This record gives sequence, structure tokens and C-alpha cells, in this order.
Amino acid sequence: MDPMMREVHDWLAEQYEAMVDGLKTLVEIDSNSYDKAGTDAVADTIFAWLAADGIEVIRHARPDAGDILEVRLGVGEEAHALLIGHRDTVFPTGTVATRGYSQQADLAFGPGVADMKAGLVMNCFVLRALKRLPRLPFPVRALFTADEEIGSPDGRAFIEQAATGARAVFNAEPGRISGNVVTARKGGASFTIAVEGKAAHSGVSHADGASAIEALARKIIKVHALTDYENGITTNIGVIEGGVSRNTVAPWAKAQLDVRFVTNEQRDVLFAALKTLISEQELPGTTATLTQSSSFLPLEAQMSEALFARYQRQAELLGFAVEGEFTGGCSDAGFTASLGVPTLCGIGPVGAKMHTDQEFCRLDTLVPRAQAVAATLLDLGAAEQGHY
Ligand SMILES: [Zn+2]
Repeated sequence: MDPMMREVHDWLAEQYEAMVDGLKTLVEIDSNSYDKAGTDAVADTIFAWLAADGIEVIRHARPDAGDILEVRLGVGEEAHALLIGHRDTVFPTGTVATRGYSQQADLAFGPGVADMKAGLVMNCFVLRALKRLPRLPFPVRALFTADEEIGSPDGRAFIEQAATGARAVFNAEPGRISGNVVTARKGGASFTIAVEGKAAHSGVSHADGASAIEALARKIIKVHALTDYENGITTNIGVIEGGVSRNTVAPWAKAQLDVRFVTNEQRDVLFAALKTLISEQELPGTTATLTQSSSFLPLEAQMSEALFARYQRQAELLGFAVEGEFTGGCSDAGFTASLGVPTLCGIGPVGAKMHTDQEFCRLDTLVPRAQAVAATLLDLGAAEQGHY
């Protein structure tokens, strides 16, 4: 093993207890995406851990979202590698008081334990391990954002900026229960469809009305017809509302739409089709608008292929087998991959049952997953220097 890799590997091997302690500390802080005080408290803790090791952390104050932490290790003109992770969870503030951190043998439970407080701990320890090296082959950066679970409305610009020009991005979302990492993810977007019609008494003057509900119903059928399982495209209207009373022709109706796709090209075609479809008038006297509320870009398989091969080789040297998996769930990895930067996701410690009260993390994966990320990262430099 390369001496730098050896040093990092051996130091991480001694950190199991410290990593478990760190995980407990982070899980015990409520940090829902909308809870700025909570996500900032997680930031305070991470800041203190890294600062204690002499790692410089830039804190970007965000008035309307959790602050963003940015770490820069090493100097030089070479392209950097980037570690990313989100501090927010889907669990409401107050969850920790009723269901905090707990442990049964090798499994840890608690809100956000796998998604992705274990990944945050892992990233901190990888940074601390790298900081111990006399010099890094290229700069390493890390970003700790606070709003991934709601589509990264605030974090996205920071992520894209930090990923620009990077040689690789590692997103510490939880590893799959199989132990696999994520090499491809669907992109997704959410929309509101709002239809306006014209109210009329349904008994007295039915013909004077224009039913927004009927117009919406016709649109729903067309929107759902855009689903194409074979190519991985889905459209789902999951919530509808509208109307004022049973005997009034409905003057308004609304629907919440979720769409998923595998490639950016599919996204463009799908969005154009939706736009056209929503602008078409279904019934005289009705109009409809389409408003996008969030969007995740896909992690296309080709953007992870080479980086995954490297990771797989390092994992094998560490003694564990790993494959790449495709998932319909979205993450920040899509933003960086869509910039053309090689990106690997799901490289965090292994977990399952995310977003439920049974969520757990496999503690025995904390150290090896950290070692695999650190080794892959250092390997990116070794190849360039022609070590093999
Ligand atoms: Zn996550």
C-alpha cells in the first residue's frame, strides 16, 4: 500500500469509538430542513470537530436556511476532489425527545442516523485523516449543506460552485442495505398545476360555467400518459383539490405533480411536453398554469463509471465487495454529475429504512466506508503520477 494510503487507513482503523460517539452526538440534535436553529447546531458541532484538528472551515451565513460549511484542505492548482453531505433530516423538531439515538449490537437507530448523519461523521473523519498527511496530492474540499431533503433550494448553488472544475465528487448518502453504492439516480421535479374556470350555479345556469375540475381531470389523463416505464420516465399526480361546493361548477382546481427521469435529455423532452400540454385549453373558459417547485437532476450512469471502478478496486483491497446500484430516488449527486463532474453517491455508511422511525445504520461499516472513500480519493492522485 502507498505510504499515504497506509497512514490514512491505519489512523481511521483506530477511530471506531470516536465515530460512534460523533454519530450519537449528531443524531441527538433535531435538524429538520426548515429548522435553522437545528441544522445550525449540527454545523456548530462539525465546525468544532474540524477546528480542533486545525482544519479551516468557512461558514457561509444563510439568513433563510441553515448555514453552509465549506472546508478547503491542501493547496495547489490541480483539480480538487469534493466531499458533500447534508445536515438536514425529514424528521420534525421534537423527534429526538421521544426517539433519540439508540443502539442494539451493531445497529444504531434514531432520526437521520443513516440519512445522513453517519455520512457527515464519515466525511469529518476522512478530512481529519487527510489533514494528518504532510501534503496532499491535490486540494480536497468539503461542503456541509442544510436543505437536501427539500430539494436543496439554497444549497444547490453552493454545491454547483464547489463542484465546478472538480476531478471527482463523493456524496456520503447512505450505502444501500446490500452494501452497494449508488452509481445512477433518477432526476425528478415537482410541479403545481393550477386550473381556473368559471363558477356557475349547477342547477340554474350550468351552461354559463366552465369547470376547472373537468379541465384538470382531462389534463391528468394526458399527464399520466407521459409515463414510460421502459425508459424510466414516470409522471404522478399525487394530490388534487378544487371546487367550492357540490352544486357550483368548479371555478378552480389544483394538482401536485411529481415527475422522474433517467437522463437530462429525457428531462428536456418531458418538460417541453408538459408545458405544451398544460397550455392547451381543455374546455372553453378554462386556463391552466404550470409552476415548478423543485428539481433534482439525474446522476447518469456514465458519470460514475470510472470513479466507481476505482472505488470498487479500493474496496476489494480493503476486503469488501461492492457493486453499483441504480435508484429512482434523487440526491445532490445529480447536480454535480450534470455539470460533467465524475460523481459517486451512496458511499456513506450502510443504512436502511430511511425516512421512517425504523431507520438504522450498520456501525460496523463506519470505518471501512471511510477507508474506502479516503483510499479512492488518494488513488485519484496516484494514477496521475503514473503509479500504475
Ligand atoms: Zn439524504
